[in-house]
Amino acid sequence: MTKTIQTTCPYCGVGCGISAKVDADQHRLTISGDSTHPANFGRLCSKGSALGETIELTNRLLQPRVYGRETSWMEALDLVANTFSEVIAKYGQDAVAFYGSGQLLTEDYYVANKLMKGFIGSGNMDTNSRLCMSSSVAGHKRAFGSDTVPNCYEDYEHAELIILIGSNTAWCHPVSFQRIRAAKEANPLLKVVVIDPRRTASCDIADLHLSLKSGSDAWLFNGLLSFLSENNALDLAYIQAHTEGFTETLWHYPIEQIAEYCQLPTQDVQQFYDWFANTDNVLSLYSQGINQSSSGTDKVNAIINCHLATGRIGKIGSGAFSLTGQPNAMGGREVGGLAHQLAAHIDFSYPDEVDKVARFWNAPHIAKQAGLPAVALFDAIAEGKIKAVWIMGTNPVVSLPNADKVKRALQACEFVVVSDCIANTDTTALAHVLLPAQGWSEKDGTVTNSERCISRQRALFKPAGNARPDWWIITQVAQRMGFEAAFNYHSPVDIFREHAALSGFENNGQRDFDISAFADISATDYEQFQPIQWPVNAAYPQGRARLFADGQFFTPSGKAQFIAVTPRPPVNAPDEQYPLILNTGRLRDQWHTMTRTALAAKLNQHKPEPFVEIHPIDAEQQGLLAHSLARLESRWGAMLARVQITDSQLQGNVFVPMHWTDQYASFGRMGALVNPIVDPLSQQPESKHTPVRVRPYTPVWQGFILSRRELKITEVDYWVKSKAAGFYRYELAGDTLPDDWRDYARKQLCSSTAENPQWQEYQDAAKGSYRAARLVDNQLETVIFIAPDHHLLLTGKPPLGGADVGAIICACFNVGEKTIKAAIKDKGLKTHQQVGQCLKAGTNCGSCIPEIKALL
Ligand code: SF4
Repeated sequence: MTKTIQTTCPYCGVGCGISAKVDADQHRLTISGDSTHPANFGRLCSKGSALGETIELTNRLLQPRVYGRETSWMEALDLVANTFSEVIAKYGQDAVAFYGSGQLLTEDYYVANKLMKGFIGSGNMDTNSRLCMSSSVAGHKRAFGSDTVPNCYEDYEHAELIILIGSNTAWCHPVSFQRIRAAKEANPLLKVVVIDPRRTASCDIADLHLSLKSGSDAWLFNGLLSFLSENNALDLAYIQAHTEGFTETLWHYPIEQIAEYCQLPTQDVQQFYDWFANTDNVLSLYSQGINQSSSGTDKVNAIINCHLATGRIGKIGSGAFSLTGQPNAMGGREVGGLAHQLAAHIDFSYPDEVDKVARFWNAPHIAKQAGLPAVALFDAIAEGKIKAVWIMGTNPVVSLPNADKVKRALQACEFVVVSDCIANTDTTALAHVLLPAQGWSEKDGTVTNSERCISRQRALFKPAGNARPDWWIITQVAQRMGFEAAFNYHSPVDIFREHAALSGFENNGQRDFDISAFADISATDYEQFQPIQWPVNAAYPQGRARLFADGQFFTPSGKAQFIAVTPRPPVNAPDEQYPLILNTGRLRDQWHTMTRTALAAKLNQHKPEPFVEIHPIDAEQQGLLAHSLARLESRWGAMLARVQITDSQLQGNVFVPMHWTDQYASFGRMGALVNPIVDPLSQQPESKHTPVRVRPYTPVWQGFILSRRELKITEVDYWVKSKAAGFYRYELAGDTLPDDWRDYARKQLCSSTAENPQWQEYQDAAKGSYRAARLVDNQLETVIFIAPDHHLLLTGKPPLGGADVGAIICACFNVGEKTIKAAIKDKGLKTHQQVGQCLKAGTNCGSCIPEIKALL
């Protein structure tokens, strides 16, 4: 029997509603967009559409494990609670830490934070959201006195100028991009400006692309403020009535000087400034390109300054709008998941506020000061100051900067606990205790998206194996540590009620985050909960789409603050040894460390291998050929990647995707390269700017394997695994030639030497190539192709399955580049809409439309 359940996508911060048709008996899921959800109105992107293919039990963690041995929940929970208690008794409460994730539900986050800050009494709970938007949090607090996102998605449809700053929205927030594209089609007067050193897929709808020098954003926006002032484009009445500090903020630099510093054509800067000055409804959308910087907070405030100066905050279609990366980054901020926050948008700045939380929680030993933020937290582990750490639903060995140091820190740490739904990750490999958490399709609770909209994530299936909800695991440990009364929850709704009550506790309109209307929500109403934007309280029982329309802010004076920004360049500049700037980011069809998206065959065909994008001139100077392999090195680490030569990169810049781990590639963790420099205010790492060098990597042989079953690849210097339709694909390369290819192939392709399969082989000693097919019961099971270099290999490379459709462009309908090119040529197609009518490509999520247009 099937039933339909409304839930939320677990990937990006757009927070799309999903209508899931669940066949529990067959463990099958049919996914479609929830047409009633205000984030997406039925749309989904390629990742959300493929969720049904990611619920398999492959690599699920199904049973607690202690020092590599499966055990009972009882033993695992006792060990965690006892060890944390012993470490605290011996070394103090700051010798332990939690590291959470924007993948946790709000209820999970709430109890983890309450345990660490309220009852263990240390501030040492931070989260991977530190890596993605803590500069926005710091910028908001400086300008507004609160961490408030003033806007809502409806503003896309009301804006007349949309500026995408450091945001490849087309790939990273695809449904938001679809809405912007649709808004532009409905209103041709809507202009879009993209500000990004890279020419990304988001430029597809851009009227103007400012390909500025990496890190120069604050100059551009300070220059804009100066321009607005000198051209009478300020809203002086608004500045006078609702802001403070304007005069100190003003800069005076001619456009030519700004253009020169940002390495932009003066007329392009002039055009952008003219549009900003002369358009009423201006919406600035920004994300990691702004936040992940050693001056990220200043960049955020430089943008907000321009909106305050023109009174364009909180108005329909106007504002500075931070697009969050993760599904529940905002929920984590609400509960105080960042180490400098306490709870309910209260931080450690004011003792009476801390006391408020202590009284609400009845927590006599509440933390009094901020804990360690992510990079410093793992440094403290490396130094032996933190002796026990609990990592929840995240993979810091891959995602943190200077990731090899993080790995060494965890290897040396006395006690590492990881709760996760995945068994084998680069981080679980280092855990002493593994606690099986429920996966997306089993979890029950709430999440908050970029526009402050709280939605329900609902369980679709029974938990796999012995997996448990994160909130349950945490409260069980809390109870064992002696905090029974404070952690006596029976379901997520118990926690949500308390979270809501705390948000309203002695609030009196002083704090933006207030959902006190839900303090007494019934279990039935929680079950039927519909998406709503906070605040939700007595004043706004139906929620509130926009904040600050009344010009009232959460600062002591009630006025917004201009912040004087002195732009500064990134800390580590390129030099002779490391002449190129490494930029990192997401791909269209992958999510974070691939633990889910790599399970969906169709999501692996768009970009199946770690790659480095490099400008043609840089490639020539470094002796790099297209499709060859390259070794990237920084002062912190190294990785291997396939070379993609493209003028979408600025000369002097390279781009590497963030997703590959040791589970999918032998040497593809980009985090190993990234410098650990952080913004001094937000403590967010500078992941968009690391000096690197890129050199050819020339193995003596390259090859690939296609196999119906997963293989354990050995004796190879480079390998990458990806899942295709019905088989696995391995890219291989080696620095030394095996003595005998036949022996080598048997080792790779057979699971044991006792196997006696049928073989068909062909070896060309003169060319150095070798091919073999392994048959089982007369059926082709595995093939291996070896050649001295990649180009020779390509001559033998078979299609990804069935007809050779080329690289997959449309992941939703599995339409490849060759198919699209053939249809364009044979049928005379002229527009992406015609391609859509003919092949369906680009008609679902629309993420591939820029690539279809490029082919046209
Ligand atoms: Fe999920 Fe895509 Fe929507 Fe993001 S845009 S929430 S990844 S469906």
